[in-house]
Amino acid sequence: MSVLVIVEREGERLSLVSLETLTFARGLEHGDVHALLLGGSASDGVVADCAAQGVAVVHVPSGPGFERHAAAAAGLAVEAAGRAARADVVIAGGTNRGNEILAHLAGRRGIGMAANVLRVVGKDPFVVERQVVGGNAVETTSLTDRVRVLTMAGHAVEPAPAPAPGAATVNPLDVAVGPGELRAQVVRTERREAGDSSGLTSARVVVGAGRGAGGPDGFGGVDALAATLGGAVGVSRVVTSLGWRPHHEQVGQTGSRISPDLYIPCGISGAIQHWAGCQSSKAILAINTDPEAPMMTKATYAVVGDMHEVVPAITEELQSGGWTPAR
Ligand SMILES: Cc1cc2nc3c(=O)[nH]c(=O)nc-3n(C[C@H](O)[C@H](O)[C@H](O)COP(=O)(O)OP(=O)(O)OC[C@H]3O[C@@H](n4cnc5c(N)ncnc54)[C@H](O)[C@@H]3O)c2cc1C
Repeated sequence: MSVLVIVEREGERLSLVSLETLTFARGLEHGDVHALLLGGSASDGVVADCAAQGVAVVHVPSGPGFERHAAAAAGLAVEAAGRAARADVVIAGGTNRGNEILAHLAGRRGIGMAANVLRVVGKDPFVVERQVVGGNAVETTSLTDRVRVLTMAGHAVEPAPAPAPGAATVNPLDVAVGPGELRAQVVRTERREAGDSSGLTSARVVVGAGRGAGGPDGFGGVDALAATLGGAVGVSRVVTSLGWRPHHEQVGQTGSRISPDLYIPCGISGAIQHWAGCQSSKAILAINTDPEAPMMTKATYAVVGDMHEVVPAITEELQSGGWTPAR
């Protein structure tokens, strides 16, 4: 028995989601933790991160079919790594890719899968609690197949190193990929445009803006506050749909999920789809003209007022006090 975790690189290191998923997997105390590395070779940094997470073996598929993402090919690699690891629990981060790959695996094997799991509440029978309805409800699900397949909800655990490092032995995997596995394959990837929100999902402070910004020229105040706080800008879907700001800045069910120490939503009503993306924030300071807006009633702190007056006033106060962001 062992746990196989699908991990991905971000540059020369493991992605934050991968570190969270490995920490989650270790917490199951279910034999060795193996990793399957997708999206590149095992750099020294990746192997070191895996070792620090207590990983016993890092399986690395290579060859045609693995230069570019193809979910069905990745599903085959998970099967091969699962056999090598003799894994009976397979976990990926609950990203679009993680869900897509494990859905392929579950489909191929004709077994069940649970997405967006928050915690495992029983091992025999294997029962999990998972986020549904964009994070607004928790569902209890049992997985009755011999191999349990699940993805983990973002930020369900804080990544932490293992008490003792693992061997992280690299095992090259030879996986034969046929044309059937390459019917849907990434052919081109564009880097998103650089901007102050490039670190939205990992920012410690996020300043949000919604329809209350009033138009594409109404973001000067939030941009300045985010810069002063050393944070990122996040927006509602109305803002991206109207083309006021780019989609990569969107927070919510169909945008990024954030969990900063402080979220400052300005002129955002707090619809459930937006709330789904920001509810893990440790503290929320809402600014809105409507004291009854859902964001105002759920926030830790609420300021009733016009964001075009309140936000510059906060920035000015911080700057005149000589405040500098903590690093
Ligand atoms: C399938 C689906 C997925 C969705 N996914 C997302 C998602 O990922 N993210 C997301 O955000 N939404 C999403 N939505 C849309 C969501 O339902 C809301 O429509 C959207 O979040 C509303 O954006 P908003 O708060 O900016 O606008 P509104 O709901 O119009 O709220 C504007 C707020 O600004 C306040 N305001 C106005 N002027 C000022 C001012 N000068 N100063 C201060 N406050 C002011 C108002 O009082 C109001 O509370 C989704 C919807 C669907 C159906």
